[in-house]
Amino acid sequence: MSAKRLGTTLSYKELAMRVHLVNPSHLSFGMAVITPRWLYVLAGATPRSFGDPWITDETLAPFDFSQIEPGDIVGIGIHTGNALRGYEVGRMARKHGAHVVFGGIHATLFPDEALELGGAHAVVKGDGDLIWAIVLADCVNGAPKRIYEGGKVQGADLLPARWDLLPRESYMWASVQTIRGCPKHCSFCSVWRTDGQQPRPRTSDAVIREIVELRRMGFRFIALADDNFYPVTLEDLATAERRKDRQRLDELHAMRDERFELMAQLAKLPKDMVFYTQITMEAAEDDAFLAAMQKANIKGALVGVESVTAEGLKSIYKNFNVSGAALVSRLQAFRNYGIYVLGSFIFGLPTDKPETFEATSALAQEAGVTFAQFVMLTPFPGTLDFVSWEKSMAQDDTRIDGIPLTRHWLIPQAVRPKVYIAHPEMSADEIRQRTQAVWDTFYSFRLVWARSRCVKSLRARLAFVLISKLYRQMYANTGIATDSARHTRSARRARWLAKAARRLFVATPIPELQMPAGLHEHADPKRLAVRVVT
Ligand code: SF4
Repeated sequence: MSAKRLGTTLSYKELAMRVHLVNPSHLSFGMAVITPRWLYVLAGATPRSFGDPWITDETLAPFDFSQIEPGDIVGIGIHTGNALRGYEVGRMARKHGAHVVFGGIHATLFPDEALELGGAHAVVKGDGDLIWAIVLADCVNGAPKRIYEGGKVQGADLLPARWDLLPRESYMWASVQTIRGCPKHCSFCSVWRTDGQQPRPRTSDAVIREIVELRRMGFRFIALADDNFYPVTLEDLATAERRKDRQRLDELHAMRDERFELMAQLAKLPKDMVFYTQITMEAAEDDAFLAAMQKANIKGALVGVESVTAEGLKSIYKNFNVSGAALVSRLQAFRNYGIYVLGSFIFGLPTDKPETFEATSALAQEAGVTFAQFVMLTPFPGTLDFVSWEKSMAQDDTRIDGIPLTRHWLIPQAVRPKVYIAHPEMSADEIRQRTQAVWDTFYSFRLVWARSRCVKSLRARLAFVLISKLYRQMYANTGIATDSARHTRSARRARWLAKAARRLFVATPIPELQMPAGLHEHADPKRLAVRVVT
């Protein structure tokens, strides 16, 4: 099948079929912090002959099923957290006569579930960038396959997003991906198993083109939504050196050079731009890398600290992190280069004790972590933790609403437990309450105001307070609380805060902004055509 055929022989039918893309969510806030990138990438992968896809991000507003015409195609992307709502959307869309196609990490892991429970006609496993046009063509021909293998698309072929379709007044930050995959193998994480351990960087030209487009629209805060922005550590280089593995060393250097090249390009963009990314803590030892990040205006990084104890880190295969005083100094190293850390911590590890909560809270403050998230250990599908937990649950016949615990994402939100892995010392409720208390302390007004000194103007401090409170309302109260009144209150507060906060993040659009010297406005069109040839 070729791009030419897609564009000519199918266009009549294509015109009659509308493509809908839905990001499911059981909570709508009317405003979101970060753009759900996949929606706009898949819009970019939709051949123009279908017209512009109709995009619904349910974190803004619920999907309006009345807009579906029989024969339309509804694409739904799910991760484990929103799978249940995704299945509801899928079944309803099918009832309205649509072709229903699922994709995303969860559908990749459980394609049969989407087919059985989500009303799916088809499921795309892996990356949708290249296969989506083929799926659409099969729907047009009335013969979608049950399963499509999208595979792991090489970085140079990952598609840019259709930002021209974005309702820009609904988001505070835009998101651009620069690399996919992560070479680590943390036991609680599925990224290395679904996106692969071989990092796949996009070309810096493709990344910069998207960022310029976003700045033209008025976005100056951009999340570099990568699995791991730092794919080559100094330790990786030293190991290859010790083994005298010339080929590996060359590969590593090429990837590292590519990161520096990207950061050099970012540094040429308007100075009011602020980037934020996700990175492993090892970067703290790499002064050259941190200095390049600083020049590139990368001012924030999510760092997976996970545990403040050595035993905790060992239990999740994250020995490459450090603990105690060394951890404090590593986290502070980011600050020395003007990079503010969002520390991510996990509670409920078998090695945790009641005093671990207090110790974590104290360490986060001592290390000068600017934002923090405290999540409870959850066995997410696709992770090593899930595999061993599922095995350990073989004899457990606990059911909630008829659903076994090992399929916890199918349990209705209102009755879904918050802790799954039995702890040797603490009850599930104790872990939940202690976790909530750490959120409460970290985001108390006194501490947030003190942390807001990291920015200078009053306006910036106000933005800092608002975004801190918003973050806590969206992620702590709605995720950990068990009573529905608290959920509703939190969602209401989050909506209000989001509206107020957005005004502080947007910038005046610069439609006349030029691409950096030497960069063409558009990618080579011949190359784009080749992408949909199978
Ligand atoms: S947690 Fe982070 S470092 Fe670990 S595998 Fe996942 S993406 Fe990589």
